Amino acid sequence: MIMDFKNKNILVTGASRGIGKRIAEAFALQGANVLLNASRESDHFKAALAEFDKAGYSCAGYACDVANTAAVKEMFAFAAEKFGSVDILVNNAGITRDMLLMKMSEDEWDMVLDVNLKGVFNCSKACIRPMMKKRWGRIINISSIIGIIGNAGQVNYAASKAGMIGFSKSVAKEVGKRGITCNVVAPGFIESDMTAALSDELKVKYLESIPVNRFGRASDVAKAVLFLAGDDASFITGQVLNVDGGMVM
Ligand code: NAP
Repeated sequence: MIMDFKNKNILVTGASRGIGKRIAEAFALQGANVLLNASRESDHFKAALAEFDKAGYSCAGYACDVANTAAVKEMFAFAAEKFGSVDILVNNAGITRDMLLMKMSEDEWDMVLDVNLKGVFNCSKACIRPMMKKRWGRIINISSIIGIIGNAGQVNYAASKAGMIGFSKSVAKEVGKRGITCNVVAPGFIESDMTAALSDELKVKYLESIPVNRFGRASDVAKAVLFLAGDDASFITGQVLNVDGGMVM
């Protein structure tokens, strides 16, 4: 398998922890230049950057809210100055604000759609022109199986994650001729801060529905992303790859 990411510039949103951090590290280990994004300069973001620096990775960090269009433009300008234009964009930043529809506030709806879906629009738009010029690019969007099957209490999250799928298929059709692919990775239950918040009772219920009988790891998602980013995946676009231990099939 060809996995040469040397001289490739990668931007991973939401890379201060969890899945995004692991994806960023996987690319860095392959010699890529990696820009890590997070919503703010938190202690854990600073710690992640220090850890990457110590490991000798070619990397930098930039904190901004992906839902903020002007801030995203500045982040891509920073990336271009630091490494050159972004070759591989991984839209991973995501949040949940769970509530049943009848009790969900407009703010809870807007917040999740803004970060999870508008963030994908902002970042993808900011990198598409340079990718078209280079006639090579990869956009990989981290959705969720919830965007495929839905979930009670997550109308906002499910809508944002399903929206990413329609978005990705449309981008794939727009830019396929220019050597750019756009795919979706849909994780199932992955151990992270996001899932740590769930009750033990719910975790047992989820485990029973996973054929491989374990929860996923951030590295399981990172491996799928690396595959889709590589030259060996150049004939795969507009697809949704579930990384869920068989939970949804
Ligand atoms: P996590 O541990 O909660 O980390 C979320 C990351 O997103 C953090 O780096 C966070 O930065 C960043 N982020 C949040 N809001 C942002 C904003 N407005 N702008 C920029 N960055 C922002 O989440 P995770 O479990 O690793 O999930 C990563 C992605 O996978 C999400 O899109 C999630 O929906 C998806 N996913 C996760 C699972 C799972 O089981 N864990 C399953 C399916 C899909 P800060 O540190 O600054 O807050």
